[in-house]
Amino acid sequence: MSTETPPAEATPPGKPGSSRSQLIKTIGMILAAAIATGAMTFGLMAFVEKKESAKKSTAKSTAPSEHKKEAAHGAAAAAHGPAVAAHAPAVAGHGPAVAAHGTEAKAASHAEPAKDNHAAGVTEHPAPARGTPPAAAHSTDHSKAAPKEHSASGSELLTKLMEGNKRYLANGATHPNQSTARRIEVSIAQKPFAIILACADSRVSPEIIFDQGLGDLFVVRVAGNVIDDHVLGSLEYAAEHFGTGLIVVLGHERCGAVTAALAGGHAPGHIGSIIEALKPAVDRISGKGGDAVDRAIDENVKIVVQALRATEPILKEKVVAHHLEIVGARYDLDTGVVTSVEP
Ligand SMILES: [Zn+2]
Repeated sequence: MSTETPPAEATPPGKPGSSRSQLIKTIGMILAAAIATGAMTFGLMAFVEKKESAKKSTAKSTAPSEHKKEAAHGAAAAAHGPAVAAHAPAVAGHGPAVAAHGTEAKAASHAEPAKDNHAAGVTEHPAPARGTPPAAAHSTDHSKAAPKEHSASGSELLTKLMEGNKRYLANGATHPNQSTARRIEVSIAQKPFAIILACADSRVSPEIIFDQGLGDLFVVRVAGNVIDDHVLGSLEYAAEHFGTGLIVVLGHERCGAVTAALAGGHAPGHIGSIIEALKPAVDRISGKGGDAVDRAIDENVKIVVQALRATEPILKEKVVAHHLEIVGARYDLDTGVVTSVEP
């Protein structure tokens, strides 16, 4: 019976026939494995190459986009667009970054957008009738000797400022330099024609009461218009880097800080530091007649003006050289009038 004949496939191992077959199988497996490994290696290599090429292509595609970005930034800078505006606050804010100041100063030295404007504005108006310190009498054009300085004298700049207050008072405010064009003009560099040290009071906004716009005024505001190192540094910075020839210390009627200083007592938090700074003014009017708050407001302005004129080295040197005039003023909350406060 065929049932007794073992099937060919069932040949027991160890026999010559099965050994050949096994060898063929093994060779086949090795070959298959080699092919598979080769394929894998090739595939892997191809993958790596693909990846490398993808990297390169990404790099290639990135490079132009970076250029585009730079170009866009450049274009924005050239056009004084939003990209510049985005950087502007850090610069305009005069933060601790010295580099930002340097950049700004550098830019300012190259572009003086407001200079002609100021000069033109000033030329139209003669020197003011208001009393001004002796330094105001010198209206020499310093622009040739010191390029950083404004060409107008302190008294001319004060006239320009007061013309703005007159417009504001007469309901004829023109809101100058507040257009998109002006924003673009001053986005790279500023050259404010006046520096104002004013109280932080919400009713005493210099740009409004002097009818000015963007880039016109460098304003430092602190309750009671007092000075400390930060305030001094800000004023010095503007005088030094923009060649601004006028500082106005602006007090105002019914100043809350001065009123608090007069009232005495304990001031919570950091308010005490302001009260402390106002103490010399309060001491000066002690025992004298008149409205104590009014007198203290004026005294404080006088004290600050005197202190600024004597602050070395930057401010005092500029005052002595007649490159800077520092004057006191006072704003009337009821009438809107700014009047001179002479030390
Ligand atoms: Zn105030």
